[in-house]
Amino acid sequence: MTIRALFSAISFAEIAKALKLTFRHMRVKEVTLQYPREKLTLPDTHRGALGLLCYEDGVERCVGCDLCEAACPSHCIKVVSGERQENGMLRRIATEFYIDMTKCVFCGFCVEACPVNALGMTKLYEYSTPNKRSLIFDKPKLYEVGEKYHGEAKAYLVAHNQEKADEQASRYRYRFPSFTKSNDVPVL
Ligand code: SF4
Ligand code: SF4
Repeated sequence: MTIRALFSAISFAEIAKALKLTFRHMRVKEVTLQYPREKLTLPDTHRGALGLLCYEDGVERCVGCDLCEAACPSHCIKVVSGERQENGMLRRIATEFYIDMTKCVFCGFCVEACPVNALGMTKLYEYSTPNKRSLIFDKPKLYEVGEKYHGEAKAYLVAHNQEKADEQASRYRYRFPSFTKSNDVPVL
């Protein structure tokens, strides 16, 4: 043992060094959150659970165009499209809509692909469940999420430059051509 090592052992220098480090860390601001009592404030750009949105008058925004399904890299969206007669007009709608949240990678491509901003991402992330099947969100569930977290979904669209904060969503509404009953010529 060298004289230096002997002196270090006698003077407990290593213990003093460790205590110095401990006391220094006692003054450092804590970064650990005591989840679930404490929660992070998430930015508007946060990509959480997806929801389907309605216009201000309650009409579903989705027109069943399937673009979100085509854009999804995880193939976790399934849209079944159909047509509905409304005031003499034929309107395309999504009769069924499924998103398998167990496969979603939260890339946001589906939101970007939607021409009418019918999809939005919310800050919802607490939906763990022992039943994996309940994570396949169907159309009622997606509209339920969209209605409950409408503000967050709108903030997401604004944060990603898809909508402006001060404008109504109806600006993006798709106007279906109306058909005259006599000769079926579309009136745009
Ligand atoms: S966020 Fe990405 S992975 Fe998830 S459903 Fe949309 S496109 Fe698919
Ligand atoms: S959510 Fe948008 S992209 Fe997907 S089917 Fe509906 S309108 Fe089309």
